[in-house]
Amino acid sequence: MGQLEAPAYRAKQLAEALYRQWENDLDEVTTLPKTLREMMISRGFQVGLPRIVESFVSIDGTERYLIATNDGQTVETVWMPDGDGGEAGDGSEAGTDLRRATICVSSQIGCAVNCQFCLTAKLGIIRNLTAGEIAGQVVAVLKRHKVEVGKRRINLVFMGMGEPFLNYDEFMAAVRLLVEEIGIPESRMTVSTSGIVPGILRFAEEKVRPKLAISLNAPNDKARTEIMPITKKWDIAHLIQAVRQVPLRPKEKVTFEYVLLGGLNDRQRDADEVGQVLRKANLPLKVNLIVWNPGPGMHYSMSDPHTVHMFQYRIKYNNIPAYVRRPRGRDIYAACGQLKRTTELVQLG
Ligand code: SAH
Ligand code: SF4
Repeated sequence: MGQLEAPAYRAKQLAEALYRQWENDLDEVTTLPKTLREMMISRGFQVGLPRIVESFVSIDGTERYLIATNDGQTVETVWMPDGDGGEAGDGSEAGTDLRRATICVSSQIGCAVNCQFCLTAKLGIIRNLTAGEIAGQVVAVLKRHKVEVGKRRINLVFMGMGEPFLNYDEFMAAVRLLVEEIGIPESRMTVSTSGIVPGILRFAEEKVRPKLAISLNAPNDKARTEIMPITKKWDIAHLIQAVRQVPLRPKEKVTFEYVLLGGLNDRQRDADEVGQVLRKANLPLKVNLIVWNPGPGMHYSMSDPHTVHMFQYRIKYNNIPAYVRRPRGRDIYAACGQLKRTTELVQLG
């Protein structure tokens, strides 16, 4: 608040009002003197919680929100009342009777990475979100569900729209806001990246950081390039080399996500090759298998349940823990890789 010539504790009071008391606008922040509030308004400060402008509720309880930004765009955020199954199995749920929920957060509007199976890619990159807009999604959803952090176990996954490591500074600033102002521990956050190596190397230096997930999605560079052209820039070997630089906390594992595309990357020999690559990585890791979620204009198919099961079995056979992520909110386009502005979905679908 240096530019306002107000004491530093005023900034703390403002953060408290927004992030803890969920005040909607400056008028409600009565801990700040009226003169200061008026001065802020006259200088064009825009203070307040992001507004949920539209919500969609799935039959499985998942909710998807469109949250308005100041420039008339919307960002998408997903609330999963009982997690998505993907984070299970690491022992972290043992001994707690707190109900848990997962919020899936966006880091950009659209995405530049162009993965062929992902609906968000079709938007291209529209813009980066600011740290406030990233953290604000969480506050808006907590407020909607009247969640008291501490009374409910909240996990955050940065797996919504966008590539967090292509908006590195704002993303990490949002993480710090969420830890310091809202009180969600970073160990309950997971960031997923398509493999932006310079971002992973910076991440390795962070003192406060979420857990790391890597979207692998293919057993080798050739197959990965077909569906994730970014592989031409950073291949699997360099990607794994970068991941190895991240100092892990005790018991922490790196997640490797693998979207199963029917007949394309879901064969048993693909599973065996993935197993070999990951064994060679020699890291504490686990695999999350995600059955591809369909979207308009994309010509992939979903793997059948037997194939999924066999794939999981072959990975486990290599002594690598493997989980199948339950698809959440597919009917409302809230599942992984389905986030795209609804107006356009209607046109496409
Ligand atoms: N950009 C980051 C995070 C957002 S995408 C990343 O790519 O990792 C989150 C996850 O959803 C990634 O693992 C991605 O591979 C997966 N995904 C994308 N489109 C999907 C789809 N249509 N069905 C299932 N998973 C998808
Ligand atoms: Fe971007 Fe992730 Fe979608 Fe790839 S999968 S286009 S990196 S959001």
